[in-house]
Amino acid sequence: MNRIQKELLGWYGKNHRTLPWRNTSDPYAIWVSEVMLQQTQVKTVIPYYERFLAAFPEPEILAKADLQEVLKIWEGLGYYARARNLHRAAREVMENHGGVVPQRRASLKALPGIGDYIAAAVSSIAFGKPHAAVDGNVKRVLARFHQMELPVNDPAAGKVFKIAAEAFLEKSSPGEFNQAMMELGALVCTPRNPRCHGCPLAWGCRVYKENAVNQYPKRIQKARIPEYHIAVGVVWKNSRVLITQRKPDGLLGGLWEFPGGKIRGGETPSEACTREIKEEVNLVVETRERIARIRHAYTHFKIVMDVFRCAYLSGRVRLRGPVDFRWVRLHEIDQFPFPGANRKFIPLIKSHENKALLAF
Ligand code: SF4
Repeated sequence: MNRIQKELLGWYGKNHRTLPWRNTSDPYAIWVSEVMLQQTQVKTVIPYYERFLAAFPEPEILAKADLQEVLKIWEGLGYYARARNLHRAAREVMENHGGVVPQRRASLKALPGIGDYIAAAVSSIAFGKPHAAVDGNVKRVLARFHQMELPVNDPAAGKVFKIAAEAFLEKSSPGEFNQAMMELGALVCTPRNPRCHGCPLAWGCRVYKENAVNQYPKRIQKARIPEYHIAVGVVWKNSRVLITQRKPDGLLGGLWEFPGGKIRGGETPSEACTREIKEEVNLVVETRERIARIRHAYTHFKIVMDVFRCAYLSGRVRLRGPVDFRWVRLHEIDQFPFPGANRKFIPLIKSHENKALLAF
């Protein structure tokens, strides 16, 4: 064991956080945790992880579950393709691997939603395979330690970071070592104000020695995120509201929402709401008061969403875009998985329920 490995593992042994997925060697549980932790912070993941494993404790139960059940448990965690892929992958584990999570990295990578990082993490942590798992935390540590000029967010640099991580890896306990690298990035070598004085790698870290910590890692500057203005309608008819289901794939696939869409130039939000509902579900509605203005950020864009109460006037639902619809009473809404932006205003609709029933 070299000095890097010894010092890092020593530090990890004394300083790592107790997290639910660290108390298990079950490859399925570790896989679920790694999927949830992609793009999401640990403290957000913990309750979702616990609920998910309570509902679907093994691949067989997940494979047999309805996708809507899975999306409902995932509701609010975001990046819903992760849930859809996990569900599909559990079915493949049942069909092709006898219900047992495969050990080999190549077999893991063949499952939906498993890329290089998750395959390496699961195979090393659950099965002790000597593969380096390279996430954003690990890249940051490596970029600083070696003073690398390659941008950490450049996909073309992925191979170089992978080689650097493999060179660090302690191959007799790769799972623990991978977790130690990630933990160092999460707790010490943080994006801003890293705690170099408490870092077990400070003795060999080039940017620390050069007093250049704040100049690394390098990143490619991304274009400004666009913002879209959206209008959606809560359409009331006979004490029920209309919800529609998005296509199974793509952004927010399979989730339910209220009909609406982008506001065009020259349109008021109210006009856009009426037009979008006609175009999307073929109903003629009268847009009444605005219930809410919601701001929400996705990875590549932001939205400002104006939510209107609408009265149904005429027409039968015919879908263009959505794949399904329901007229539901408000107390039934919680049975359906909704995206975060919709979930922000659903409590407001509920608080207006009596008013709405009187109005329509
Ligand atoms: S010394 Fe500082 S910059 Fe270098 S690896 Fe440690 S925390 Fe990161």
